[in-house]
Amino acid sequence: MPRYRCNSCQGVYSNPQADGSSYAHVCPEERVVELPGSTEEEPRVQLEAIADRRDERPRPAGRSGLVETDSLGHPRILSPGKGRTKLPEDVAGDVLDRG
Ligand SMILES: [Zn+2]
Repeated sequence: MPRYRCNSCQGVYSNPQADGSSYAHVCPEERVVELPGSTEEEPRVQLEAIADRRDERPRPAGRSGLVETDSLGHPRILSPGKGRTKLPEDVAGDVLDRG
């Protein structure tokens, strides 16, 4: 299934999901950043606000209940943020959710 890394928050997600449902990625407000000198025994992290957050939920077209589409008929999203990067489908970690 197509996998992506969000260029704004570095989150990795699949769309559609394993069960076939579609998924709209929305960046969290903050992310955890590891600080220099951090170890597994003594983790040192801080929260960092995510600038230019991505929000893939469809953009509503006025009050019609419909969504805005581009010239190809694809739904427009609320905010592209910094975009996303398509990942190879068989990178390590992809099998974690397959039971
Ligand atoms: Zn994101």
